[in-house]
Amino acid sequence: MLYNTCMNKKHMSLHEKRDALLAEMASLRGLLNGSLVQRYSTCSRKHCICHTDSGKRHGPRLYLSTTGEKGQRQVYIPVACAAGAAEGVAQGVRLRAIVRELTALNLQLLREKPLESSL
Ligand SMILES: [Zn+2]
Repeated sequence: MLYNTCMNKKHMSLHEKRDALLAEMASLRGLLNGSLVQRYSTCSRKHCICHTDSGKRHGPRLYLSTTGEKGQRQVYIPVACAAGAAEGVAQGVRLRAIVRELTALNLQLLREKPLESSL
């Protein structure tokens, strides 16, 4: 997104656009691949009301829902880390958009010069 504000895309070649997207991709240092979910849960105290009254469960607590090697999992996010996690998720969304844009650009480049490697 940084690059959109300081570069005029209309005057950029496909290669320049691709370079800008790759540079932006490298800037997404805090990215988190997943989404934030809020959850209510029960605790380990045996006689706590949270076990009998679902309306009295603890929370909401924030979790990052992400896909690891073993599938979907939810990772607890402490309140102090919530803002950073939200920024990371936003960067993850941007990364996936960049991947789509790069795919479109690379398809165009492949069609322009199918025999030459443009990579
Ligand atoms: Zn409880």
